[in-house]
Amino acid sequence: MSYAFPYRRKVVMNMITNIIAEDSIQQLQQLVKQSNNIAIVTHVSPDGDAIGSTLGLQHYLAACGKKSQIVVPNSFPHYLKWLEGAEKITQYDYHPAYATSVINTADLIFCLDFNVLARIKELGNLVRTSSAAKVLIDHHPYPEAFANVCISHPEISSTSELIFRLIHQSGDEADITTPCAEAIYTGMMTDTGAFTYNSNNAEIYFIVGELLRKGVDKDQIYRNVFNNHSADRYRMMGFLLSERMKIYPELQTALLWLSKSEQERFNNQKGDTEGFVNMPLSIKGIRFSAFFREDTDLIKISFRSEGNFPANSFSSRYFGGGGHLNAAGGEFYGPLEEALQRFEEVLPGFCAEQNK
Ligand code: 5GP
Ligand code: MN
Repeated sequence: MSYAFPYRRKVVMNMITNIIAEDSIQQLQQLVKQSNNIAIVTHVSPDGDAIGSTLGLQHYLAACGKKSQIVVPNSFPHYLKWLEGAEKITQYDYHPAYATSVINTADLIFCLDFNVLARIKELGNLVRTSSAAKVLIDHHPYPEAFANVCISHPEISSTSELIFRLIHQSGDEADITTPCAEAIYTGMMTDTGAFTYNSNNAEIYFIVGELLRKGVDKDQIYRNVFNNHSADRYRMMGFLLSERMKIYPELQTALLWLSKSEQERFNNQKGDTEGFVNMPLSIKGIRFSAFFREDTDLIKISFRSEGNFPANSFSSRYFGGGGHLNAAGGEFYGPLEEALQRFEEVLPGFCAEQNK
């Protein structure tokens, strides 16, 4: 059944604010125009927003007649591989010589979804010393000052949304193809947990509407990304919640951890542990969650929080990391037991400080 909405046009007009500085857009467009070799880089262990924003930008540049090459530090999850163009992404750890030549021959480098060059590992020094012009487009606080054009908006929930805003503000919405819209939608969806957090800005839903008009099948994208896991992953989750979750009720905190051998027992694949750290936040009273995962030569840590509890400050102070207020990450070099011990040592003091 279809309904007529005679006043729809009036309602949807001017639903999106021009948040990107006009001179940044002008400079960016000028740089694109004069460049012949464009590279796009994003952070280590790329997530949905990293891959979505880089592919979204790449499709847009292609529509403007400009080819580009995406370079990532290492592999990304299988549930993002269906995105058009994902198969042409170059991984630095697999193809270091080719990746290096892409950066060294670039005359323009886009840096998406990260704020400091350390987040792209070995690629960081290549980008830093490159004579190419650099454009940063990101939503993490405290951007490092290395880019010629810095489009940094921590108030926006995903870099993919910023790519949409860039295109929209440039007056180029007609250039958004279905694959471009799918990439942008995927990044917006994954960085908001399918619009369950960081997603109260009404303009997000105007953008989603525009992307649907471009041919996005949002229900299919949800299934591709979130309903595409192995049985092993669910068994690992069961083990984690049953055997490797500690609750600190008085500190409103949950701690999760998995050793390397435990991950191997469940045939852990890239992306399988994604989302685990969020789960304890659905326990009544929990406002801070930490997940320690033993990797080959380090302990990789994810933090999530609710409300004003600053996961990023906790991570930068004690685990050499950073991120957003409610979603951050860090690293620990040493045995897993020591990392967990450190967490337990510093947590009460930090919580007391926050409660003041
Ligand atoms: P995740 O837990 O999903 O790996 O990361 C959550 C957030 O923290 C992301 O925004 C990511 O950019 C940031 N993050 C993760 N690991 C690190 C890290 O080692 N250093 C910094 N500075 N940020 C991180
Ligand atoms: Mn992001």
